[in-house]
Amino acid sequence: TAPARDRLRIAIQKNGRLAEPARSLLTACGLSWRQSRDKLFCYGESLPVDLLLVRDDDIPGLIADGVCDFGIVGRNELDEQGAARRRIGLPDAYQALRGLNFGQCRLMLAVPEEWEWTGVEQLAGKRIATSYPAILADWLAERGVDAQVVELSGSVEIAPRLGTADLICDLVSSGATLAANQLKPVETLLESEAVLAGPVRTPDDARAGLMAMLLRRLDGVVKVQD
Ligand code: ATP
Ligand code: ZN
Repeated sequence: TAPARDRLRIAIQKNGRLAEPARSLLTACGLSWRQSRDKLFCYGESLPVDLLLVRDDDIPGLIADGVCDFGIVGRNELDEQGAARRRIGLPDAYQALRGLNFGQCRLMLAVPEEWEWTGVEQLAGKRIATSYPAILADWLAERGVDAQVVELSGSVEIAPRLGTADLICDLVSSGATLAANQLKPVETLLESEAVLAGPVRTPDDARAGLMAMLLRRLDGVVKVQD
């Protein structure tokens, strides 16, 4: 177990789609930070709540390892790493505590425009490129579909044109990227948004009270927004 701490640590994305909205949300909750020069770690001023600025992929692991108490991350990333952990027999280490009303997108299957989509049975024997191999593998298994998952870390949408996959499973918001690559969305695997993620077990030191207080403030702020 991680050592007792009396300051809270929240991990947010350093750069990217969730970076600015996550910081604004926490500011609206009354948090402020002393700007550190390397900007990887921001020391909390108004409350003993520090910020860690990281890649979004690192956030679930930081919570699992007890390095951070909360994180703001896409449900897609949290679910993928949770599914990957489960596949290798690790226990659940984090959970989505609140939906935050930003970062909305869908994890979808998309096929070449000329395909006539009739249903998942069409996927048998096909190669599907994705950055979400564990979610996709679970989804296929639940439907009894035997397809090949091709894991790619980026530029998934060009895989069909390159011939490295027949179709893709990727995040979609406007659909413009799909259209630009002559792909069309056909199935939704996950409706995603940014979430506040936290540990499965609340620590039993000074952080518990801070965590409860932050959740209360968050509920007030997120409710006002919609
Ligand atoms: P990092 O450098 O932190 O690893 P990244 O490239 O993985 O960044 P972003 O592209 O900034 O991540 O996306 C962060 C999150 O924003 C996604 O995981 C997802 O939850 C959300 N999101 C919302 N709309 C989209 C979209 N159209 N495409 C990709 N992600 C989206
Ligand atoms: Zn990332």
